Amino acid sequence: MKLFISFWIIILSILIAGGCSDSEEIIAFKNVNLVPMTEEKIIANQSVLVKGDRIYRIGKSDKIKIPQKAKVIDGKGAYLMPGLADMHVHLTGEWPLPQLDLYLANGVTTVRDLDGRDFMLHWRQEIKQGKRIGPTIYAAGPIIRGYENNAPELVVKQKSGYDCLKLYAYFSKDDYKKTMKIAKTQNFYTVGHLPFAVGLDGIIAERMNEIAHIEELIWELIDFDRNKYLSAKEWIPYLKQVFSQHYKPSLHLEFQGIKNEYLQRIIAVVKKLESKNIWVNTTLYLDQIIIQKLFEPEKFIAHTTSAYLPQKYINSILQGKEKHQLQFKAGEDLAPVKYEIDKMILIELHKADIPIVLGTDAGTGKMGIVPGFSIHNELRILTENGFSPYEAIVTATVNASRVVEAMIGRDDFGSIEIGKRADFILVLKNPLDDVSNIKDGHGVMAAGKWYGIKETQKMIDPALLPTIPVVGGVVNVRTAKDEFITVIDIIIGKSFSGKLPDDIETISVIGPQGVLPLRKENFTFWPTADDFYAVIPGSPKVGTYTFTVTSGKREGSASDTQSSLLPIPVPGISTFSPADGEILRSKTPTFSWSAVVHFNNPVFYLFQIYDSEGEQIYRRGRNQGMTSHTVPAGILKPGEDYRWRIRVSDSGHWMEEQNRSHTKRLSFKMAQTLE
Ligand SMILES: [Zn+2]
Repeated sequence: MKLFISFWIIILSILIAGGCSDSEEIIAFKNVNLVPMTEEKIIANQSVLVKGDRIYRIGKSDKIKIPQKAKVIDGKGAYLMPGLADMHVHLTGEWPLPQLDLYLANGVTTVRDLDGRDFMLHWRQEIKQGKRIGPTIYAAGPIIRGYENNAPELVVKQKSGYDCLKLYAYFSKDDYKKTMKIAKTQNFYTVGHLPFAVGLDGIIAERMNEIAHIEELIWELIDFDRNKYLSAKEWIPYLKQVFSQHYKPSLHLEFQGIKNEYLQRIIAVVKKLESKNIWVNTTLYLDQIIIQKLFEPEKFIAHTTSAYLPQKYINSILQGKEKHQLQFKAGEDLAPVKYEIDKMILIELHKADIPIVLGTDAGTGKMGIVPGFSIHNELRILTENGFSPYEAIVTATVNASRVVEAMIGRDDFGSIEIGKRADFILVLKNPLDDVSNIKDGHGVMAAGKWYGIKETQKMIDPALLPTIPVVGGVVNVRTAKDEFITVIDIIIGKSFSGKLPDDIETISVIGPQGVLPLRKENFTFWPTADDFYAVIPGSPKVGTYTFTVTSGKREGSASDTQSSLLPIPVPGISTFSPADGEILRSKTPTFSWSAVVHFNNPVFYLFQIYDSEGEQIYRRGRNQGMTSHTVPAGILKPGEDYRWRIRVSDSGHWMEEQNRSHTKRLSFKMAQTLE
């Protein structure tokens, strides 16, 4: 808040005058190519002196005297550039490695959380005091969504210490006006969505300072009834319908078609923002990964940075229950259209010189945006869409500091100048040639601390990842003897580096009624699927089950919810073909069985064959309505004994299965000679 400005100006002038205490460490960066970001230039062979967290001298390497006690970092022709700022993050998510480390290791030396909590203010204090390592943190107060009964009053209640106010999409026109009025009298910088009832004209009229995502502007291209005053729950389905009605016709269009259709409308929207001094935050990488999550989830999971995602999140993708998978369900094709339009908006905003600041929406743990790593993708997307490398870097440095100035009255990072915060990245190749050169940072300085390449690499060392990839499921099983049992499957992911089953040391399961009496010894290991399974008499209790496995210091967990208990009928075997004990003479025998009726729900059949040792050698199905199957040649050997059975399930996907039944195993023998 601006109350503190004068205080900071005093501190700053003391620092510039060199009046800080002698105990502060001096760090000298020498022989560097300076990327000052004050304009598009490189200044060769420079030295930069830092005391505490401030730059106090800059000059030609041979002219600058380095104090004896200084810690010297010899740049040897490397490039010293300002650290990067991600101005739209969320620090609330749980990550396998500390989020603040992920930012630092990627050269992100400033973050702004857009849904703040008290702990971030503590972290910020600790980082400032050198008790915690991390980027400099700015934080908005907890989001005000607009549907709260007392939305405008919440502004007053936002505790002091937050740097800005985050407003969401559900304000009525009246409440938005009232809220903005209070925010302005309190001198709060406001950043937010375009509330559906308010729109761009409304936020311009009220002088909101920043739009939190480029994608918000997409709603300006569509006509819909802003006077609906629907509740939050009603807006979403309404807008989904409006959105797909509007954009469905575009689905057959190639990019050029989309462009022709929307360009004029986009230009008109962008024109409204001209010289309004309203910042627009990018968050475009999110668009790109939504498409990947919808169309190539395996590729998304296999991405190297996905190793840093919470296991819970990966599980939700595997189960098709991830936030965006659900949001775009039955409208997946809209995602690529939306991304194309968002990129067009970016291009036009840039052409029209609308102030743009970089943000990635990293961190919540519910969207798949990995802290720190995401900034390099966001920069890449900017340079793919009309920004020069310099212009792209400006959005994450100089512009970020200007936004902070608008928030708290201080523009003191983002460029390498005397008096500014000494947030740096040392990179080996010129970042103004290609923003991807920043990824291979060779050291980072943030909040008064220097981290060399060894330290930053250690922060993101994959060996530190504590998780073991796990998925788990619980299911209510009705057996051939008409008894109910609970089957638990815990499957270890392929990327587990240990030996199975030995390297999994412990297995534990917590059910709705507490810890289950199951240890690793109670599980059988099925190598084909890397599956530990256990059987307990009786149906499972309804509720959530959490499965945890450990291997040394590593741990992995997954959960599954049993939400219904339904008695799936066991198919009657009297009509099965072949009948129990038959001898088969065909190389490609056909098996058939009777269908079951299970209330009005669909059922899915799985066909399984076991050899004489009881090993499952063949399975096909989980198909709805499947009542026969022909086994291809070469699977069943002449003269051998086999058994087969049918499983009936309430889902075609094992992770979603809640209830199933199975028949007994019927035996058959293959003839000595097959036809
Ligand atoms: Zn966000």
